[in-house]
Amino acid sequence: MILDIIAYPDPRLHQPCQPVPVVTDEIRQLAADMLETMYAAPGVGLAAPQVGKNIRLLVMDPAAKDESPQPRVLVNPVLKLEGEEILSEREGCLSVPLQYRADVWRRSRAILDAQDLDGNPVHEELEGFPAIVMQHEYDHLEGILFIDRISRLRRTLYESKVKKWLKRRNAG
Ligand code: ZN
Repeated sequence: MILDIIAYPDPRLHQPCQPVPVVTDEIRQLAADMLETMYAAPGVGLAAPQVGKNIRLLVMDPAAKDESPQPRVLVNPVLKLEGEEILSEREGCLSVPLQYRADVWRRSRAILDAQDLDGNPVHEELEGFPAIVMQHEYDHLEGILFIDRISRLRRTLYESKVKKWLKRRNAG
């Protein structure tokens, strides 16, 4: 089932998420729906708060267009960031309206510990694009959007565009 994706400035996107105590069938169904929603959007990652669920669950597929799909579901992920600062160019987000994109500084390596949908531990070292996607999705679980990581000037300009857009939308 394709779920509704909530968008900035919805305050639910700025709340830190709660751990998943135990992986139930409900969580497995939510993860399947989130993957379907992500592919339909289309996007490369989706975190539970983006569909209005305040829990530490995310899905992603950082495969390149010419690669076969690599769907991932991660429960209660913990990230340790390493390596140099790298510029994630023209980052975007399914929850950031107007298809806004901006460059964001990220780290080149992410050491991931999480659980899969069977409750098994996952340990991975990610680099490059998968590491960037993981950092973006993990931020969602902390209540952080990529627009929280851009310059104050860019953010102000973006917010005024969103305000105008919301006004037009509500008027129409
Ligand atoms: Zn996002």
